[in-house]
Amino acid sequence: MDTDIIIIGGGLSGLALADRLQQLGLDFVLLEARERFGGRVLSKEIDGAAFDLGPAWFWPGQPRMAALVDVLRLNIFEQFSDGDIVSEDRLGQVRRGMGFASMTGSYRVQGGLERLTIGLAARLPTASLKLNSAAIALTRDEDAVVVQIKSPSGSRVIRSSRAVLAVPPRIADATIEFAPALPQKVRNTLAAIPTWMAGQAKIVALYERPYWREGGLSGDAMSHLGPLTEIHDASPHKGGPFALFGFVGAPPGVRKRYRQEMVQAVAEAYASVPAGERADTAIFANDFAAAGAIDIIGPKYGLPKAIGGHQSYWLWGPRNYSGQTMIVLGDTEKGAREWFDEVTVVEELHHPYAAPWENNPVLLCRKPKFGSLRDVWPKLKHWD
Ligand SMILES: Cc1cc2nc3c(=O)[nH]c(=O)nc-3n(C[C@H](O)[C@H](O)[C@H](O)COP(=O)(O)OP(=O)(O)OC[C@H]3O[C@@H](n4cnc5c(N)ncnc54)[C@H](O)[C@@H]3O)c2cc1C
Repeated sequence: MDTDIIIIGGGLSGLALADRLQQLGLDFVLLEARERFGGRVLSKEIDGAAFDLGPAWFWPGQPRMAALVDVLRLNIFEQFSDGDIVSEDRLGQVRRGMGFASMTGSYRVQGGLERLTIGLAARLPTASLKLNSAAIALTRDEDAVVVQIKSPSGSRVIRSSRAVLAVPPRIADATIEFAPALPQKVRNTLAAIPTWMAGQAKIVALYERPYWREGGLSGDAMSHLGPLTEIHDASPHKGGPFALFGFVGAPPGVRKRYRQEMVQAVAEAYASVPAGERADTAIFANDFAAAGAIDIIGPKYGLPKAIGGHQSYWLWGPRNYSGQTMIVLGDTEKGAREWFDEVTVVEELHHPYAAPWENNPVLLCRKPKFGSLRDVWPKLKHWD
C-alpha cells in the first residue's frame, strides 16, 4: 500500500481534510489536477491589496470556517454595506434605496480568502502533496483502491486503503472512471448535484476613490438588464485601491440558449427512463412557455409533445398517459412530493434571466398519489 488515504481534489475541502488527517497522524496523499491548490478559491493581489475572484464571504454561524480562520491566525472584517442599494429594471431604469444590502453581516478575510487555502497547504508535508496530478480512474481490487493518475510526465497508479473524492460530484461523474462501475442510480445522483456558483464569474473594477460610499451608497446593486446582475463593494479592509465587483450575467446569446438547455435537460431525463417505460412517460410542464419549448425544440431530441394544465394545454388533455411516470417542469421537489411517492431531481436549472418558476429543477416522478392522470386532470387547470 502506498498510503492510507488518497484525497482527490485540492480545493478548500480537500485541503481541510488533509489538515485533519495530518492532525490525527494518518498517512495521506492529496492529488490536485491543476498546477495550484485552492480550486474555486482564488485571490489576486494588485497594488498591495487582495481581490477575491472566487468566493469572498463566509457567515457567522459557520464554526468550521471560524475555527480555520483562528488556527491560521487570519484577520477578518465585515463586508462593507452602509448606505443605499440601487437596482436597475429590465428597461434600464435605475432606482435608489429599493432594498437592503444583502450581504450585511458577512465576513471577508484580510489579504483575500485564498489565505485560507495557501495557509492550509503550507501546514501540510510537501511529500504528500501532488500538483498536476489528475485522478482519472478508481479501481477497487481485493485489498486496495487503485487510483490511476495522469500528469504531464505520464500516467502512474497509487494504491491506498481508502479514497476520498473532494471534487464537485458532477466533475467526478464526468471525468473519473470507476471499476466496478457505479450503479446508474448513484451516477444520476452525482450528475444531478449542481456545482455551486459554477455558472458565475466575477469582474472586479478598481477605483482610486470609493465614489459610491461618498454618495451614500453601499456599492450593492442589482440589475435585471446585465451584464453584471449583482454588484458589491470589494474594497480591502483599509485604504485602496477601492473596488466594486459584479457577478457576470448571461449575454443575450446565452439567454436564447436557456430554452435549449432546458429541453436538453428534459431529453436527458427522458433517455434515463428504461425503454419499456418511455411510451407512458409524460412530459408535464406547469406553464405553456415551457410546454411550447418542448413541442418546438423537443422533436430534434426525440421528445413527444408536452402536456400541461396551463391555458390551452389543459384543454388538450392528458393524451393517453396514465401518470405512472412523469417528467415535471415548473415545480419544486417538495411540491412534486405531494403528488408522487418517488421524485428524482434530474437537473437543476439556473439561469439569471429566467423567471423564478422556470428555475425549478427537472423532476422525474413515479408512483403517483392521485390515481390516474385522467381523474386528476380537472384539478390541474390554471389560467394565470
Ligand atoms: C465566483 C464564485 C464566487 C463564490 N462565492 C462564494 C462565497 O462568497 N461564499 C461561499 O461560501 N462560497 C462561494 N463560492 C463557492 C465556493 O467557492 C465553493 O463552494 C468552494 O470553494 C468549494 O470547494 P471544494 O474544495 O469543495 O471544491 P473546488 O474548489 O471545486 O475544488 C475541487 C478541486 O478538485 C480538483 N479536481 C477536480 N477533478 C480532479 C481530479 N480528477 N483529480 C484531481 N483533482 C481534481 C480541481 O482542480 C479543484 O482544485 C463561490 C464560487 C465561485 C465560483
